[in-house]
Amino acid sequence: MPNTTANRITDICDLAPGYIRAIAPYQPGKPISELAREFNLDPARIIKLASNENPLGASPLGMRAVGEALADIARYPDGNGFELKRALAERYGVDMPQIVLGNGSNDVLELAARAFLGAGLEAVYSQHAFAVYPLATQATGATGIEVPARNFGHDLDAMARAVTPRTRVVFVANPNNPTGTLADAGALHEWLGRLPAHVAVVLDEAYNEYLQPQLVADSVGWLKEFPNLIITRTFSKIYGLAGLRVGYAFASPAVTDLMNRVRQPFNVNSLALAAATAALTDAEFVRRSHELNAAGMLQLTQGFARLRLDYIPSYGNFVSVRVGAANAVYQRLLEQGVIVRPVAGYGMPEHLRVTIGLASENERFLEALARALAA
Ligand SMILES: *Cc1c(COP(=O)(O)O)cnc(C)c1O
Repeated sequence: MPNTTANRITDICDLAPGYIRAIAPYQPGKPISELAREFNLDPARIIKLASNENPLGASPLGMRAVGEALADIARYPDGNGFELKRALAERYGVDMPQIVLGNGSNDVLELAARAFLGAGLEAVYSQHAFAVYPLATQATGATGIEVPARNFGHDLDAMARAVTPRTRVVFVANPNNPTGTLADAGALHEWLGRLPAHVAVVLDEAYNEYLQPQLVADSVGWLKEFPNLIITRTFSKIYGLAGLRVGYAFASPAVTDLMNRVRQPFNVNSLALAAATAALTDAEFVRRSHELNAAGMLQLTQGFARLRLDYIPSYGNFVSVRVGAANAVYQRLLEQGVIVRPVAGYGMPEHLRVTIGLASENERFLEALARALAA
């Protein structure tokens, strides 16, 4: 047998590419069941404001569609997602070939990375930006270039300056998670025009539906001008379908064609397809969710002001508040049955991110926070 490297090293894990071994795993919000086990708490008394889920639950139209779709789960889903694409195309005025569906928008972010990145290439993203961008970049062997933020928001000029001949993807979260910051639509449009054609711009609009109408950019309209623009959105947030995993991207047909080549044939399951198609028509649920979020944002930020805490003004369904020793405060909240999200991994060791909940949940969180800070 030839004396190859593989023969001398017995641990297969040592043979995984260095860029894979260097990946720091994603840290999700703590599940309710886990906290209940750890602190021996009643799960019904625990509130989770840690993963930007919809406190109203799922769209009722979406849930009804899941019930109906159950009868067909012995069959593979429609690998092209025809019905959902048709509904999205009609709703947003795009052509069906401009749509890629994903197992959550996380999946479409990865498809964009896999389609355009690889060893020797670079992706640019902001400090404090969504954790999936470095993860998706690293998994391809490409190099992530993190650009310092400005007041917690994306510094678009600095990001443009970070683009090199090796850059293939620039990720922009608008609004961003976990900071909640929003780039002005006019500035973003002008910036897109300045970026070279050899970079794909992934504009992540996971929280788009939470914006006040006057702040919503015509990003879909920009697709006509910018064949390198990829817009990603999700059914996990305002539509309340996080557990089903369904998201999508809008891009030029040539770009979606590449992304579809690296997509699993049946990446979106049949229940998710049915739920999303129905939820898209649930204007009443979206309206209630939007209203509840606006009221809850006010409730929380007024509470922070009473506690004399700084927070980052947010355009999403969450807000990051500066509490100082965030990990200690996080632990004291857990002891009281309240789960929020530490964001030290995002370079924000003094902040906690809290998802806007029901009015009663927000109240309980504020009371628990006051106790945690006094301890
Ligand atoms: C939640 C979130 C997503 C999407 O999550 P999926 O559940 O995978 O659709 C994407 N981008 C940002 C910035 C998010 O916060």
